[in-house]
Parts: sequence; structure tokens; C-alpha cells
Amino acid sequence: MGDPHFYYADVCAGSTALDYWTGPKAATSARVPFAASERTFALTVFSLTEQSLYVAALDLWIDSMRERDRCYVSHGHSDHAREHGTVVASVNSARVCRRRFGRAVSFEEHAFNEPWTAGEHRLTLFPAGHVLGSSQLLIEGATGAFVYTGDFKLAQSYTCEPPEVKHCDVLLMECTFGRPQYVFPARTEVEERIVAFVTRALADGCAPLLFAYSLGKAQETIAILSAANLPVTVHGAVDAMARVYAEAGVMVGPYETYDAGTYDGTRALIWPPSGKRRPQAAHQRPLRTAMLTGWALDPGAADRYGVDEMIPLSDHADFPALLAYIERAQPRKVWLNHGRPNFVWHLRRLGIDAEYLEAHQQLALF
Ligand SMILES: [Zn+2]
Repeated sequence: MGDPHFYYADVCAGSTALDYWTGPKAATSARVPFAASERTFALTVFSLTEQSLYVAALDLWIDSMRERDRCYVSHGHSDHAREHGTVVASVNSARVCRRRFGRAVSFEEHAFNEPWTAGEHRLTLFPAGHVLGSSQLLIEGATGAFVYTGDFKLAQSYTCEPPEVKHCDVLLMECTFGRPQYVFPARTEVEERIVAFVTRALADGCAPLLFAYSLGKAQETIAILSAANLPVTVHGAVDAMARVYAEAGVMVGPYETYDAGTYDGTRALIWPPSGKRRPQAAHQRPLRTAMLTGWALDPGAADRYGVDEMIPLSDHADFPALLAYIERAQPRKVWLNHGRPNFVWHLRRLGIDAEYLEAHQQLALF
């Protein structure tokens, strides 16, 4: 075990449910800047050990990429979920992991907002709004409240649990889109673009092929297209995850599963973005392709992804939503990971005590 660095907070806090965030909001201007002396407070909830987040008091790893005896897994995407001895997860994340893992592991499942006690601490999982089952972890103790967001978004979705924000003293948040140019269009506009892409392609005699991650975005896309009464066909990997959604009571909408022999190009086709060979033919209809990702906002993205159109459907928070989260959580200290280190400077200019984990010495986290 390495030489861990500990981070601290010292006040207990309440929580509030979040209404759907509906658009960009510059909400942090009223913050009171931290005094320099406050930058040193901090607390022993988590450490960076063996290049992973670790809560020593609970002997609990967090989203570790190495297999551990016992690890909290925030959601089922492969960059967060590994086959640990015991996986601590939300009920629906456990469903996803069971389907994805190649071998049986034991699960410690917790319902959202049903706290449990471990030693001197109280732990609570609550929704992150990223994909089905995605959770955030709240750890409360005598020294304060710590929240780990995992991947999250605040924008509305049809297929995953509505996100919440809780007050905390120390916040460890992802900042994938932590640059000011990442302002996603309103969700309704994104949905209209997806529907318009499919409608136009079909009208032009093309087969519409939409690339979307098989967990989360693909199910959301099925829901968007079926709400517009457009016929949908999906890759088998998307079907496998949609069945997990159905098990959880989330009906994403009607679809067929792709079969090369019968797919004739007259239905929207949803396909994982990588590792899966594209269909070659659709009964003589040319393919017209779209990639669904927040990176659609980057100039030249269509060329880089090799598609006809980029549509900014994201399962992450954009820049204004990252700020809105902090405004609502009111943490005294913000740690950042999974994103742009420069986001630290934006927060500090707003008077927020922030540091980027991966810039911290000994780090190389994740
Ligand atoms: Zn994810």
C-alpha cells in the first residue's frame, strides 16, 4: 500500500432533491471566496492508494480499475465496472453488471436513498442520471459529508433515474466537459435533431445508422425515436442492455434486433460506436451515419469519427451543469477527476476551493 494522501471536511450537511436542470445557468457568482487558510482544511474520507480511490475507514475501494476484494461500482460502463470480490452498487447497477460480467461475483446492493451504517460512517447511494442504475456515493461521519459523483448528468432523460444533488463538505466530481465551449443544446433540440436525421435519411432512400454506446445512450435513443413513431432496429449488444432496462421496469420502446439477412434499411439502426463491424449493406440502400456524443461540439468531429453528422447527445454534464452542481451541493472543497485540469482554474476564479486529483503528486489516478 502506498503513502496515502487524505482529504477532509468537518461539517455535516443535509440534502435536497434536484429538479431537472433545463439550461445553462451562471449560478456561482454569489459564492463567498474561501480564505486562504481554509484551503488546508480537509479530511480523511478517501485516499489515493495504489492509483485508486480508497476509503480506509471502510476498507472500500471506489470505481477501481484493478480487481479488489470489495469495491463500490458507480455504474456499469466498462471504465468503471470490474469484477471485484464483492461489488457494492445500486440495485440496477448490479443488474447491469450481472449481465456484463463474464463470471459470477457477489453483490452488496443498496437502494437509492436508503442509508446504511458501517462503523462510524453512514453511506447512501443516490441517482447520478448517467445511465440506468448510475449512482453517487455519500459518506457521512463525525468529520463531515463527502460525495463522489462518478459519471453524472443533470439533463433530463427518459431511461435513467432522475439525478439528485446533495449538500456536502467535500465533493469529488467528474469534469469530462469542463471547458466553457461545452454547452449542450437543450435536450428537446437534441431530440429533434436525432428525429430529423432519421426522417431525412429515410426520405432520401438511405439507411440511417446511429452510433451510440450500448449501455445508456442507445436505450435513450430508442426511447427518443419510438416517441416519434419511427421504427428502430438495434445491434445485439444494445438489445442485451435494453433487456436489463426492461427487467428494471424501464420500457425503452419497441425495437427489432438486427439481422443481416432481413434488415432492409427502412428502419433507424442503432449500433455501438466501436469494436463492432458496421453493417455492409441494407438492400442496396446507402448508409447515412450519425455519431451521438457530447464531443459533437468539437470542430471537425465528423471527420474524426468518420460519420456524416454529429449530434450532441451526452450522458455527461456540460460546463454550465458542472457549475450548477457545485452551486447546489455547496461543498467547501472540490476535487476533480476524469476531465480537463483547466476546469480547476475556472472554479478558482469563482472563489471555489478546487484541485485536480490527477495533478496531485503520486497520482496517475485511473
Ligand atoms: Zn459512464
